[in-house]
Amino acid sequence: MKVPFLELKPTYDELRDELDAAYHRVMDSGWYLLGNELAAFESEYATYCETEHCIGVANGLDALQLTLRAFDIGPGDEVVVPSHTFIATWLAVTQVGATPVPVEPDLQTYNLDTRLIEASITSRTKAIIPVHLYGQPADMDPIIEIATRHNLVVIEDAAQAQGARYKGRRVGSLGHAAAHSFYPGKNLGAFADGGGITTSDAGLAQRLRSLRNYGSPVKYHYQEPGFNSRLCDLQAAFLRVKLNCLDQWNDRRKQIAKAYHSALSSLASCNSTLALPFVPDWADPVWHLFVVQHPQRDQLQRSLAAKGIGTLIHYPVAIHRSQAYSNFSEFNLPIAEELANTVLSLPISPQLSINQANEVVSVLREVEPALGRAVP
Ligand SMILES: *Cc1c(COP(=O)(O)O)cnc(C)c1O
Repeated sequence: MKVPFLELKPTYDELRDELDAAYHRVMDSGWYLLGNELAAFESEYATYCETEHCIGVANGLDALQLTLRAFDIGPGDEVVVPSHTFIATWLAVTQVGATPVPVEPDLQTYNLDTRLIEASITSRTKAIIPVHLYGQPADMDPIIEIATRHNLVVIEDAAQAQGARYKGRRVGSLGHAAAHSFYPGKNLGAFADGGGITTSDAGLAQRLRSLRNYGSPVKYHYQEPGFNSRLCDLQAAFLRVKLNCLDQWNDRRKQIAKAYHSALSSLASCNSTLALPFVPDWADPVWHLFVVQHPQRDQLQRSLAAKGIGTLIHYPVAIHRSQAYSNFSEFNLPIAEELANTVLSLPISPQLSINQANEVVSVLREVEPALGRAVP
């Protein structure tokens, strides 16, 4: 049995009738941008995230970048970011002319090690961007406590965690604002690029609505140099259909994660080279990815591939070691580098069957012990 890492076509197959109906509704309406479908999605998604406002934008990177601008963060300012994240978290900071200040993650949760944040704060620090990486909420209480003490803005990067909860509260409602991505592979994915910002700050929401639309709160009246970054009505209509299933689809991810945990924990404990993701008791993660660590990661990936199991690496190069950030290459970020060398994402999605998950487990049980005996 082959198990691909991720297939998107099954998400369309499952909701074909409703998605086709949404397509015809938008096409027949004759209104394709900043229309009723977008407004309806924004309102429904804000409610889902337990916030007052949602502003649809073109993608998750813009959601971060425009939010930084809306807080007037720019050249000369510093923004605390995780050393281990998708590059967009850093890029947004760079795009507004500010400086990313990387802080190392906790090896077990993959999220910001909150004990290390305070040491990285200077008089130029303006914001912290905690990332809810792989679908697991970051430990927000200490982050908000530090931010409050230093008068910093907290912008959640919730791109990988739509629907996750932290101490019972929805991710996206925990900071001053949160950035979401509706990239097709995300837990709530459109069928093209898309993004959104959630916040309960009315003034911020108004500024963001203007910024995404050329800086014009009123058509042809320009308040500031803005951007063209809009979530189109067709994608908003698709997202409304998928939002209805998000909790149910996240539950299926949780079932697969549970199956992986219970089947693999014995393997992990008896040889101690395979490490499973750790979930603190206050976290209700949504398993955007199921990421294990292994010292012979590349060999493990090859052995799995030879038996038909698709995996990916999120991410193979630490950001400060990438060519794009060569000015950071001397930074001492050993945890980010270790993770880049050891993480491996197993297949997980709402459309992955339990049979397929069991196949991943049995192949892993077969190939991993052989690696364990090899010379590292
Ligand atoms: C996907 C992602 C983004 C960027 O979203 P796009 O819609 O691809 O621009 C930002 N941060 C994280 C953590 C992501 O995973």
